[in-house]
Amino acid sequence: MNKSKRILLVSTFLIIIAFVFVLLVFQSSIIPRRSFSAPKTYYHSWGQILSDPKPITINTYATGIMRTGLSAIMNLEHERALDIEDVVIEVPVNVSIIHHQKFGAYLIDAGLDSSYVYNPYGTSKGILVKKFMGKGSQDPNTDIAAILDGENIRLQGVWLTHLHPDHIAGIVDLPKNIPYVVGEDERYINFRFLMHSDHLAGIKVLYEIDFNQGIDLPPFGKGVDLFGDGSFWAIESSGHSKGHVMYFINGVHEKVIVTGDACNNQFQFDTGIGPGYLSSDVDKAQEVLESIKTFKEHYPEVKLVFGHDL
Ligand SMILES: [Zn+2]
Repeated sequence: MNKSKRILLVSTFLIIIAFVFVLLVFQSSIIPRRSFSAPKTYYHSWGQILSDPKPITINTYATGIMRTGLSAIMNLEHERALDIEDVVIEVPVNVSIIHHQKFGAYLIDAGLDSSYVYNPYGTSKGILVKKFMGKGSQDPNTDIAAILDGENIRLQGVWLTHLHPDHIAGIVDLPKNIPYVVGEDERYINFRFLMHSDHLAGIKVLYEIDFNQGIDLPPFGKGVDLFGDGSFWAIESSGHSKGHVMYFINGVHEKVIVTGDACNNQFQFDTGIGPGYLSSDVDKAQEVLESIKTFKEHYPEVKLVFGHDL
């Protein structure tokens, strides 16, 4: 075999090896997706929705604590952040259980599973985990499965604000024969060997909310009436992540927006400084935060539940 033939053969072999490696790394982040078919809505404005509350309740719990740099959750490049130092902070990792008299109990986000009691990275593995993931901690029996057990909840499904690890880790301990719903185009970071969490393992299909089916809900973008009776809405909030979703609970006793990480905590709301470098689009995340503030000014009776505050 002459030299040029040997070089061609070796480089072809190396390209195939590299291709198989890349396939192996990325294949674990692919999960089948299907459009969530929302029922028809009879509502067309906030005024109409808010004047017609429904028998739905919400309770929020912390499934553990995450340690992270402040700049991860708050944009310290913002002009109002010049005096704010990038310190390490500890924040609760929240989940909410909603209960609708007719449709039953659902989760908003899954929080942390029980592995965080003894491992700060939970079930995540890979060479990049220690470098890029925040450390979690947890008191025994405060994980998502323990909370559901304690409250005697039979879950009908899980609505996710987004697919970051601190919002989906707990899925490893949840039943898989129920629907899991997320915003359209929300990315799932699960790279074999590098940052391998497998939090969605066992879920056969991920349902995606298509906001084009929704109604205009200013100052936000579109909203989708998830049960079709005006009780529970998904609100478009792309920014912190591409397919980020906030949820609105239109209860008789309480009206609540679960902001997810569109607004991490009260400090973020008060300062008006948007989510930080972990966001897929910092400018859009800032706009969403400002729309939350505008909404709260117009509708002070609506309570806000933040992604990482209690
Ligand atoms: Zn988060």
